[in-house]
Amino acid sequence: MKLLDGKLASQAIKEELRLSVAQRVAEGKKVPHLAAILIGNNGASATYVAAKVKACEETGFKSTLIKFEDTISEESLLAKINELNYDLDIDGILVQLPLPSHIAEEKIITAIDPEKDVDGFHPINLGRMVQGQASFIPATPYGIMLLLEHFKVDTTGKHAVVIGRSNIVGRPLSILLSANTKPGNCTVTLCHSKTKELSSHCQQADIIVAALGKAEFLKADMVKEGAIVIDVGITRVTDNTKKSGFRLLGDVHFETVSKKCEWITPVPGGVGPMTIAALLKNTFQACVKRS
Ligand code: NAP
Repeated sequence: MKLLDGKLASQAIKEELRLSVAQRVAEGKKVPHLAAILIGNNGASATYVAAKVKACEETGFKSTLIKFEDTISEESLLAKINELNYDLDIDGILVQLPLPSHIAEEKIITAIDPEKDVDGFHPINLGRMVQGQASFIPATPYGIMLLLEHFKVDTTGKHAVVIGRSNIVGRPLSILLSANTKPGNCTVTLCHSKTKELSSHCQQADIIVAALGKAEFLKADMVKEGAIVIDVGITRVTDNTKKSGFRLLGDVHFETVSKKCEWITPVPGGVGPMTIAALLKNTFQACVKRS
């Protein structure tokens, strides 16, 4: 078993970006600037945004963290996004999901200027991605592709089973894995909660991506020998032995599944850090395009 170590791969990407930013500074060009909007008091969301802001600092990016109470109106949030769209210093805008139920996610995502949509959720970017055009690719699927690329995992001709069809993970990843690219060129089966015989699909897979959000769902008997397993899931479970009071579990029963795998991602330290690295890459790209 070999570890698809997201910490290692993301550090390499961040170091590359840090040098590129330093080069821009030396040439008198602007540095990438990410604006992150955090709404409410969701602990997990706050942790993710803090990690993104910290990664900006480490790579020499500018970042602006904008916090709102969860009582903010949809109108006020849209007004803020509009302001950031026109702010010449801002290259990338991210709105941390999920949003409070009175705010329509779709409305917020489509309000972001597609040229600053570094999370890649805007329909224009998703449409471009589907057609294989240059676009901002959603950070988690992009991070997974970067991880496979970093460890030179050969995916060509392989059968990939993706569990989960969300717009931010499973569905875009299924498209990227099936694209005529390297990594890519997989034959993809996209599974969801209505899929019948999920275990038998998984048992036939060379690559399994577990992105359903159910702790330790994927068990060893669902995985064939020599499979490549990517664990996207993050579930917080209470653990009073930890200072934080919780620990993180993935969607894969790592202890048993890892024994059968050629490659596997750990949780934490797999897809999570790669999502942040991909976000930084998108933000850098947005900055280069704009100045
Ligand atoms: P989501 O929007 O809740 O989507 C979950 C998907 O899984 C849905 O398509 C659902 O099917 C499917 N599903 C649920 N139960 C299933 C079952 N028993 N069998 C087969 N399919 C099932 O979740 P998401 O936003 O994609 O996130 C998935 C997980 O990844 C979560 O744990 C999340 O925290 C994590 N995540 C991690 C990162 C990272 O950076 N590591 C980033 C994003 C998300 P239906 O469509 O039929 O409902």
